[in-house]
Amino acid sequence: MARPIHFTLAALLAFSSSSLHAEGTAEETWDLSALYANDAAWNKAAEASDSFIKPVKSCKGQWAKSPNKLAECFDTYFKAHKEVARLYNYAFQKASANGEDPNAQALKGKAGKIWASLEEAASPMQSEIIGLPEKKLQTFINHPLLKTYKLTLENITRKRKHTLSAEGNQLLAYSTELAEGSREVFHALTTLNLPFPTVKLSTGESVEVNAPAFSKYRQSSSADDRDKVFRAFFGTYKGFRETYAANFNSMVNRDAFYRKAKNYNSDVEASLDASNVPVSVYSKMIEQVRANRPLLWRYLKLKQKLMGLKELKYSDLYLPLTNEKAPSYSFDEAKKLAFAAVAPLGKEYQSILERSNKERWIDVYPAKGKVSGAYMDGSAYDVHPYLLMNYNNDYESVSTYLHEFGHAAHSYYSSKNQPYHYADYPTFAAEVASTFNEVLLSEHFLKSTQDPKFKLFILGQALESFRTTVFRQAFFADFEWTVHELAQKGNTLTADLLDKTYLDLLKLYYGDAEGVVKVDPLYAIEWAYIPHFYNNFYVFQYTTSFIASNALAGKVLTEGEKARDSYLSMLKAGGSLYPLDLLKLGGIDMSGTEPYKISFANMEKALDEAEKIVAEMKK
Ligand SMILES: [Zn+2]
Repeated sequence: MARPIHFTLAALLAFSSSSLHAEGTAEETWDLSALYANDAAWNKAAEASDSFIKPVKSCKGQWAKSPNKLAECFDTYFKAHKEVARLYNYAFQKASANGEDPNAQALKGKAGKIWASLEEAASPMQSEIIGLPEKKLQTFINHPLLKTYKLTLENITRKRKHTLSAEGNQLLAYSTELAEGSREVFHALTTLNLPFPTVKLSTGESVEVNAPAFSKYRQSSSADDRDKVFRAFFGTYKGFRETYAANFNSMVNRDAFYRKAKNYNSDVEASLDASNVPVSVYSKMIEQVRANRPLLWRYLKLKQKLMGLKELKYSDLYLPLTNEKAPSYSFDEAKKLAFAAVAPLGKEYQSILERSNKERWIDVYPAKGKVSGAYMDGSAYDVHPYLLMNYNNDYESVSTYLHEFGHAAHSYYSSKNQPYHYADYPTFAAEVASTFNEVLLSEHFLKSTQDPKFKLFILGQALESFRTTVFRQAFFADFEWTVHELAQKGNTLTADLLDKTYLDLLKLYYGDAEGVVKVDPLYAIEWAYIPHFYNNFYVFQYTTSFIASNALAGKVLTEGEKARDSYLSMLKAGGSLYPLDLLKLGGIDMSGTEPYKISFANMEKALDEAEKIVAEMKK
């Protein structure tokens, strides 16, 4: 079972540097005493951890003895899991709030060891259960004592034909660290060794174009500076293209190794099967996004018009639609905005929001030693979710707050309505609850303002989300799939082949042939820059989650109570169903085209409004 922590996409994509603020008060830090009164209480609980891990150890050889024994062992395991998760939660939060605190680091180290010993104690579980003969397994699955574990059991045994013998499994276990090699090389080369050059900008400023500087200056108002920064940044990657390609190829070889070892037809199938998502969902997503590229092109044309550019280059895409700056919002104002924005989800949802403030679930402001970005940790089942932010008073901070609270409410509902073993929900559904709230915030602003400039800003934010989360991530997913297929057909992924594949797709998505974006061949090397490719077949979920949440929010806002109740029942269901069934319960079928129809209609509506405002402004 993974730890239910959900980081924002922005935090994962950007190399954000958090500035320090002094405005935090005790009220705006989280209260960890709900977990343990203090470190001494934590230490005492940690020392007692053996008492609940030992019974799990003694399940070795017993897991599949009888339905009775299996139920007992599951009970023992999940009880221990819950305790260890709570221990880890406290240590993790402390270390995140202040990484410079050696005491917090020590607690985290200790908690990590306890995790490892629990996982080791439970390691025979899967193979013993999978070893049950089919007929016997069916009697287990239908046994009244195992009723609550039905999906847990099915989920373990459905992978049967992809599971190796005990010796085979042991060999696979030896490969775990080996498999991390390409990712480690990628990070070391990228963050430590790339010789990023210094360029002189039109302002006279000299800037070393490393990753944070690239993120910042790609939004420069000078087209020449943007172009310069892009060339310097990707030019550096290009100088190492053969090294990156060899490393990329070895990562794809890793996936091929597991595909063959576990008897899957394709790398994508091997990856998606982990959470029981059919490959057709992946291909449907790519088909639908490709078909709706004209909407992206229309948006980019509008951007180009507003920026007054003769031609739109790939280096121009990161500029916002308008220069309009949103007002700044204190955290108190953000709380009020959030309360009003989530109103369509009902009084109970609003009351959870109020509780999160009253009970101090949130660590609000940046601080010395605190990690950057934002996340929600919902692993303390008996307590409540915790949220970490680096609130900065800008529009994005408010949006991040709504996003993270969406995760928190999801965990809250799930913990209240599901037994511990179904409280954690799959990633495929997780980002729906968060991005859903971003849509609500945007709708709230659009409804409550008459100012056309501010309206255009909000519409620009929504359209930009479509560009970065739907189209860009779908494009990544498309590339990832294409190159894995090329490799499976026997091709070596050389720098030339990766460049060509990337550039062809880049042109296809951004409408190079249609005269939308002029893509310079230099940017073929962008594949080398994207860290997400090392988490194989992960990014497609950014797109599917966004589409799902956008469609669901659309339904709740137009259809009202019935759609809302379906949506909330999905949150309450936690991980008690497979991903697609969860979303069906919520009201949409991600194997079909309906969610795409609704979401792209929403995008079209935003485009219509934005174009109308621009036309009015030009008068
Ligand atoms: Zn998230």
